[in-house]
Amino acid sequence: MKTVTIKGRRFRLTLPESEILQAVDRIAGRMSEELADKNPLFLAILNGSFVFAADLLRRIDVAGQVSFIRLSSYSGTDSSGDVLKVIGLTEQVNGRNVVVIEDMIDSGLTMNRLTAHLSALGAADLKVAVLFMKPEALRYDVKADYVALSIPNDFVVGYGLDYDGYGRNLRDIYTLMP
Ligand code: 5GP
Ligand code: MG
Repeated sequence: MKTVTIKGRRFRLTLPESEILQAVDRIAGRMSEELADKNPLFLAILNGSFVFAADLLRRIDVAGQVSFIRLSSYSGTDSSGDVLKVIGLTEQVNGRNVVVIEDMIDSGLTMNRLTAHLSALGAADLKVAVLFMKPEALRYDVKADYVALSIPNDFVVGYGLDYDGYGRNLRDIYTLMP
């Protein structure tokens, strides 16, 4: 059993890169067909999606525009208590076919907020590509047009995902051990 220790927590290898790439291939094939002639604007969410985005985008056979944004949430005064802030969005979204590339849909809150924001900016068509979805954790209504893999409700690192800032560079996916 291959394990890695990050800040005193042990993680074990649960999903090798080869299996991730097979899943990425599958959605890339569908995206190539469905996004042809759509002049897509791909918005990859940093930091977590950087590896997924690089693998996915190189398998999509459509010359799109690629940009990177960051999200931060802070305590605000709206009813739900927090506000999503989008950082670094310099492209016009209005009237564009936008494809969000994200690492994970967990509760779905982040994606729910982000898609609402992009719709409000006037995106003509909005699609969401996500590496992992945790169906057991889902609590919000979300768009997820292309899901590479559904995984159990456990904490994972690697392939772009971090534990407290560490482990994003690991090639495979590791799951936190009890
Ligand atoms: P949500 O808003 O859907 O509850 O959470 C989504 C965000 O939580 C993801 O973008 C990701 O940053 C983080 N997240 C959720 N589950 C995991 C996980 O298992 N590992 C890591 N590294 N981040 C996670
Ligand atoms: Mg994230």
